[in-house]
Amino acid sequence: MHYQNTKDFAVQLDAADPLKGFRNRYHIPILNGREVNYFCGNSLGLQPKSAKQYIDQDLKDWAELAIEGHFQAANPWYSYHEKLVGTMAKIIGARDSEVAIMNSLTVNLHLLMISFYRPDQRRNKIICEAQAFPSDLYAIDSQVKLHGFDPEESVIKLKPREGEQTVRHEDVINAINLHGDSLSLVMLGAVNYYSGQFFDLPAITAAAHTHGAFAGFDLAHAVGNVHTQLHTWDVDFACWCTYKYLNSGPGGVGGIFVHERHAKKADYPRLSGWFGNDPKTRFTMPEKFIPAPGAYGWQISNEPVLAMAAHRASLEIFEEAGMDRLLEKSKLLTGYLEYLLNEINNDSGEKKLNIITPSDSNQRGCQLSIVIKNNGKEVHHKLMEHGILADWRGPDVIRFAPVPLYNTFLDIWEGIDVLKSELV
Ligand SMILES: *Cc1c(COP(=O)(O)O)cnc(C)c1O
Repeated sequence: MHYQNTKDFAVQLDAADPLKGFRNRYHIPILNGREVNYFCGNSLGLQPKSAKQYIDQDLKDWAELAIEGHFQAANPWYSYHEKLVGTMAKIIGARDSEVAIMNSLTVNLHLLMISFYRPDQRRNKIICEAQAFPSDLYAIDSQVKLHGFDPEESVIKLKPREGEQTVRHEDVINAINLHGDSLSLVMLGAVNYYSGQFFDLPAITAAAHTHGAFAGFDLAHAVGNVHTQLHTWDVDFACWCTYKYLNSGPGGVGGIFVHERHAKKADYPRLSGWFGNDPKTRFTMPEKFIPAPGAYGWQISNEPVLAMAAHRASLEIFEEAGMDRLLEKSKLLTGYLEYLLNEINNDSGEKKLNIITPSDSNQRGCQLSIVIKNNGKEVHHKLMEHGILADWRGPDVIRFAPVPLYNTFLDIWEGIDVLKSELV
């Protein structure tokens, strides 16, 4: 695509966009009398207009049917998850039986590490990123301590090389090979929240397996944003939240993937609760846990139906749009953002800003993280005042994430026009 730096060009791309109708399915916040240019879909996705109607239906069923709603509601609560797993499985590239909708992200990470981080004296190391999202680092450290090991020794943190912003793939693989037999688990954010780097999951998984270690990924910034084939790539486990690219509401219900190699083993080590019991016998209240086959066996409690209603509203839109079309548009949008940012440097003859996200579109999703040379924090403040919502992540990054369901090329052109005028 040969991009042009004009408003007309952006408007033309929008007119030709096969997904343009989807924007109207979302509530776009208004500031100073106009819709904001929203680039924070990586933090909190916008609300689907249908979410209210879906939640209202369950509130109505609760009011009118009370306990009967478990089986008689328009969408019976007892089997609500069945309406969600199929679309979720498609989005991440899994089989339906490998997906469960449950809890929230960090809780799920803990539950999965209970199953997949079972260290012993010889094999107790975890490889993660130094620049991982803090919650993941806390989870990892606490798991290591729980098993009586010392995070200083057992947690191996990957860092970018001196002067670089992202971790080189070869350095991930070298670390895996270096720690070899002492490695229990490789646990990375599939897309790093700060830099936007998308790791090579199949190669990392294969390398971990060579040494008898597991590979698990936090998909917080990957799910609904990049192409993954977790089943085919033989990933052991993954977990995600749904309030970012999946637009399912603040604190929305999370999800897990457990590869069927593990999930179909009835005795796989895990923390259990009654909703992970086989639904066929759950209400016979058996004394001994009989796990539901698949990832659903990791479910512990009965499910948060109101949160799942919002999730369902959003997933139906994903189903309609299709990940392939979304990813295609995403590449064009982010490519346009990258082009306009580079134009700022070209026009001014100096590097006023630096994009730290990889320029290879296979190593990123829609997010670009930029470091402003002189007045980053101030520029971010000015953008917000103009209704250009991007987010600030200390120490010095502004993240822009144009998402294909509701962002337009014009959003980007306008946002970067303001950005340019505020740089010194
Ligand atoms: C957003 C995010 C979280 C947040 O965790 P919650 O348990 O949902 O609060 C955790 N890890 C990563 C990598 C994230 O991007």
